[in-house]
Amino acid sequence: MNFHILTLFPDMVMQGLSTSIIGKAKENGLISVEAINIRDFTENKHKKVDDYPYGGGAGMLMQAQPVYDAWKSVADKIGRKPRTVYLTPQGQTFSQPMAKELAKEEDLVLLCGHYEGIDERVLEEIVTDYMSIGDYVLTGGELPAMVMVDSISRMVPGVLTNEESGSTESFEGNLLEYPQYSRPEVWMGKVVPEVLLSGNEKNIRTWRKEAAIARTKERRPDMYAKYEALDQCRQVLMKQKLHHMDMIELIARGQAELIYADGATVCLYDNVSGVYFHTTDGYEKGCLGMEKIKEYAQNHGGIDTLYCIALHQEDMCEVAQEVLGVSPFITCKMAVYTKKEKLPITGLYTTNGKTPEGMVEIRRIGVEYAKEAAAFYDGPDGADYVREHLEEFGLYGAFLEEKLVGYIGRHPEGGMGILQVSPEYRRRKIAKALETYMINLSLEIGHIPFAQVVVGNERSVALQESLGLCFAKNLIYWMEK
Ligand code: SAM
Repeated sequence: MNFHILTLFPDMVMQGLSTSIIGKAKENGLISVEAINIRDFTENKHKKVDDYPYGGGAGMLMQAQPVYDAWKSVADKIGRKPRTVYLTPQGQTFSQPMAKELAKEEDLVLLCGHYEGIDERVLEEIVTDYMSIGDYVLTGGELPAMVMVDSISRMVPGVLTNEESGSTESFEGNLLEYPQYSRPEVWMGKVVPEVLLSGNEKNIRTWRKEAAIARTKERRPDMYAKYEALDQCRQVLMKQKLHHMDMIELIARGQAELIYADGATVCLYDNVSGVYFHTTDGYEKGCLGMEKIKEYAQNHGGIDTLYCIALHQEDMCEVAQEVLGVSPFITCKMAVYTKKEKLPITGLYTTNGKTPEGMVEIRRIGVEYAKEAAAFYDGPDGADYVREHLEEFGLYGAFLEEKLVGYIGRHPEGGMGILQVSPEYRRRKIAKALETYMINLSLEIGHIPFAQVVVGNERSVALQESLGLCFAKNLIYWMEK
């Protein structure tokens, strides 16, 4: 991902972003950061970039011409109008979901203001998003730009060494993180909570969850209210746990926005994938839920942005068609790995670069494998999906003597999938190795592994059964525009 920072103080941002994790990410080519000095583009012979505001008032304003020309130099270089964020106290408050969303961009321009701000006319011309880092006024946009580069970069695949470690932090699952302790066990008479020394993973998980809830309730009542509302939905969904595992995990992973809930009707929006989810136990209530989804989409970018919805009852398909204008895409069976224990890996795969007889090496892959991966993709989403997925999220590839022979991933809305094995390497337990890897990885980060199998894909059904996944009785109906 490439950051282009338009600023009057390029040294300040470049120095601020040169150390530690962000510095390493730059060295490893995972991100690039350039600072463009707006002053270099002024047509004023004294290198002036500011002037008095018309109508009077305190302070100076950055002029339109140098800002526009600096921006245009970036746009010309990358060959299109880039997403451009103006850092301003008048913007939407920057948040973790926004960091995740922006991390999907290939190029991002961050425009830093100074003095009293920037001439409105150039902002109208180039800015796509207005963002603030909080309700206070700073002297310039450089610190906010650095804050944003730091948090967005952490969401770029591969930047964090433990690539999944972002998923247990504050704000995930609408909870702040639990308190943490390191050595020594006793410091200034204060003792580390006993449970953390017990080695009992289940008790540690329970303690951490309770501590996170208590901390959120005390420090961020606004966030706790959202957590509580979603937790009530989760309890409703748990009554048909297998069938609703997609929605349950959406809530657990902190991706869900609650649109509507009424008894057994729950409607959610996934703020990672942009997919809508709907379930109900009655026709009338289900219809009301569908109307609420329409209303939500209308208020969040317009009905045209609604491109996909997952329904949990067949009689809702016609309703969705009528209300939302979507058509049937695929019907799936939900398969859930309900056990807590990891699966054995002996004889299946390694992760250390070696491939003993009959085993593959599995490792994370990025867009550099787009061509090889697309060459043997035959799933329902089209080969472009593989490239996009590699770009945005990465996949896990199986290798034999450095040749990519299969891969698996996680759909942005949470299910394991995109499982493919090159035809000439089938019947060698490679699919089993890949899914075992994915299940174990999911368990490590506290996810419940699940997969949706397209009805009729008996090879996949057999694989899920052989790995011990349980199937829900009812189906999921995917509708698309
Ligand atoms: N007169 C402006 C106003 O009242 O909205 C404030 C200008 S401020 C002194 C100068 C620059 O600092 C802004 O153009 C903006 O780029 C940056 N800035 C200040 N506070 C910020 C915040 N909370 N978030 C993001 N950028 C901020």
